[in-house]
Parts: sequence; C-alpha cells; structure tokens
Amino acid sequence: MSKSLQAIRGMNDILPEQTPLWRYFESTVARLLDNYGYKQIRMPIVEFTELFKRSIGEVTDIVEKEMYTFEDRNGDSLTLRPEGTAACVRAVLEHGLTGGGQPQKLWYIGPMFRHERPQKGRYRQFHQIGLEVFNLDGPDIDAELIVLTWRLWGLLGIRDAVKLELNSLGTSESRGRYRVALVEYLLAHVDKLDEDSRRRLTTNPLRVLDTKNADTQAVLVDAPKMADYLDDESRIHFEGLKARLDAAGIPYVINPKLVRGLDYYSKTVFEWVTDKLGAQGTVCAGGRYDGLVEQMGGKPTTGVGFAMGIERLILLLETLEQVPEEISRQVDVYLCAFGEAAELAALALSEKVRDQLPNLRLQINAGAGSFKSQFKKADKSGALYALILGDDELAQQVIGFKPLRGQGEQQNIAFDALAAHLATCVVQG
Ligand code: ATP
Ligand code: MG
Repeated sequence: MSKSLQAIRGMNDILPEQTPLWRYFESTVARLLDNYGYKQIRMPIVEFTELFKRSIGEVTDIVEKEMYTFEDRNGDSLTLRPEGTAACVRAVLEHGLTGGGQPQKLWYIGPMFRHERPQKGRYRQFHQIGLEVFNLDGPDIDAELIVLTWRLWGLLGIRDAVKLELNSLGTSESRGRYRVALVEYLLAHVDKLDEDSRRRLTTNPLRVLDTKNADTQAVLVDAPKMADYLDDESRIHFEGLKARLDAAGIPYVINPKLVRGLDYYSKTVFEWVTDKLGAQGTVCAGGRYDGLVEQMGGKPTTGVGFAMGIERLILLLETLEQVPEEISRQVDVYLCAFGEAAELAALALSEKVRDQLPNLRLQINAGAGSFKSQFKKADKSGALYALILGDDELAQQVIGFKPLRGQGEQQNIAFDALAAHLATCVVQG
C-alpha cells in the first residue's frame, strides 16, 4: 500500500477482533462508575492551545514537546487534547457546574494525543477513562477514588498484578519551601547530575526526583525529603487517606519520589503500577489539584482525579489471560435459509422473534449458499444454535433447531413457538 494510505505512526486501528474486549472493559467501568454516583461528561477533542499551556504548565513534557498543535483556518492555535482534566475544568467553569461550591463527581472517556515515541503501551493516539471530583476537599473522596479503582481491578481479575504507590506533594506553599531546599542541595552536586536533570533544576526541579539516570539517582539518596516539608494541613489530609485505605484493606506503598508529570498537583498523588508490561508500567495515575480551577480563572474550587490508560489495561488483561471467554461470542443463533421462498419467510419470522426477544443476537445468513457452506458459516459465527429453513420446513410452518455446541438433538419448532423456545435456551444479555 502507498505510504499516504497508512495510518499515522502511533495511531492504531482497533480491529473487530479486539473490540469485544474494549467494549467489555468500557462497560465494566461505566457500570461501576454509575454505581458510585459519577456522571459522564463529554468534551471536544480539540481545544484552544492556551487552555493546555495554562493548566498543564509551560515547562512540562506534554506542553514542551508532546502536543499536536496547529492553526485552523481562522488563524487560531488549536491543540488535540493531550489529557482530559484541562478540558473538563474548562467545561465545568463555562457551564457553572461548580457554582456556589456545588460538588461534582464526573468521568469521561476518549482518545488523547501526545507526540511520544511509539512503543508497547505508549502511543500517539491513546485512550483514557478519567474521573474528576470538584468541591470535595477531604481525604474521604481521595480514598473513594482509590477504593473504586481497587474494586475495578477485582472485577477485571488483575488485582494481584497492580500495586498502589502514594505520595503527598503538600500545598503549593510547602512544595515551594521544599523546592528551594531541593534546588540548593542539587546545586551543590550539579556536576554529578545528568543533562536533563540539570535543565530541570531551573525549569521544574521536582521532576528531577523521577529521573531514570543512575548517577542522578545516587545523588538523590541523601536529598531533602518532601515528607519533612509537609505542612500540617497536608499531613493530616495524608494521614486521613492512609487510615481509610487501611480500613478498606487496600495495600499501598509510600513512594516519596512520586511527583507526577503535570504541574497542577497538590497534596495526594498516586499511581497504580504493574511489573507485567515492561517499561510502560503505570496503568492509572492521578491526584489532587486544589489550585487548578483558580489558576484557570475560576473561583477557588478543590479538585481531585485520575486517568487510566485503556490500552495498557487491555494489554494487561491479555497478558494475564483475564479475557472472559463469552465476550468474543457475539452471535446466539444463526439462521440458514434455502431458496427464495424460505428466505422471505425467514426474514419475516426473525423480525417477529426480534420483537419478542429484543436482546437476542440473531444473525441471518446473507448471500444464500449451499447447505454445506451456510452450515460452515453458522459454525464459524460462534453461534450456539442454527435455525434451518428449507422448502419442507416452510410447507409445515416449522423451523429446524440445531444445537451447534453439543447441547441436545436437532428438532423442529413451530413458527409461533420459536421465540418462546429460544427464550428458554439462550441467556438474554
Ligand atoms: P507516563 O509516565 O507513562 O508517560 P504520564 O504520567 O504521562 O504517563 P498521565 O498523563 O498521568 O500519564 O496519564 C494517565 C495514564 O494514561 C497513564 O498512567 C497511562 O496509563 C496512560 N498514558 C499516558 N500516556 C500514554 C501514551 N502515550 N500511550 C498510552 N497510554 C498512555
Ligand atoms: Mg508521559
């Protein structure tokens, strides 16, 4: 195929054989979030570039080098959203959803775009499910976010493969004090730092903490600890969160180096990580961002949220072989009809059956074909039963009912009794 007809590198098609797993994942999450009282919000995929610069921060990886930014025909600078929080805050402010201090528990799902180096678990178009909670400032809601993800891991059968890492960044004041101490310490060892970290020393020094460079890591061993700089308010908040996680029986490890990539976090930050996916091990990450709404021009409004990467979680389900068998079967019954008269009768009959059994997954053979070829297709469809309508059956107003997976004998069922019969043998979704 010519180059122009290929998908863009790092932007993947999700093929029909993969969509059942995606839909299973998405519907499991959606049901769970309904049950916890979260409401879905849908934002556009494109926003003014300014929105991301102001919210994510000018000196983050995302804004510095990962955004898909372009001018539209009016000369406005637009950007394909690299994450969901900024647009969600924009929408909440624009529509007054948090006016008067009203709490909101929201979630969204959709594609995000970052110009990164594509590799397993890292793509240029990827998908997130995100949650954002506004105007609830206690550790109880931080705990709820973590508890419900823990429940999700349980539903998906991947609990044993993920680990919760937790840290507190404090308020912006205490973080500021810590930053000063950290920079002072790092400047004293600047000759041992890698180039990236040296650059970050002036732009975003906390990011030095999550360096992958071994020499810099060695320098960090004796660096000042964020925990020693936490203000009382943040400390109490963090203790409250830990107490709730303990009460709920959710294991976690404190990772003092967890700082997160975005500028806007405060107090709680957390990541769910797995060692089953190689380098791209973070499947879900988030934290509190109490200053963000104000920074974006709103009234003081607290916020806390997280986003999970759908591709990584799908990869994890596949790696751990936690793909439920039944999700790939998309047909209950396959109808084979032979000859024009039988085809007409089959169509009318199946529409009647669909009226009575709206959830029945009934596929009618298309394109005619011999007995042998239709049967082969019936089998390949994964259906549990085949229905067979030829001239003989038509004359008697019956249809052949044949179990395809070895559950009993073939029999003839009267047209009017078909829906009732199918209702007894096909589990209705
Ligand atoms: P990473 O450190 O892996 O780059 P991040 O800190 O940039 O992640 P967030 O912005 O917090 O990621 O996004 C939340 C989640 O979205 C991540 O934990 C990950 O599961 C997923 N994610 C982020 N970037 C990508 C990507 N390029 N491809 C696939 N999934 C991604
Ligand atoms: Mg990243």
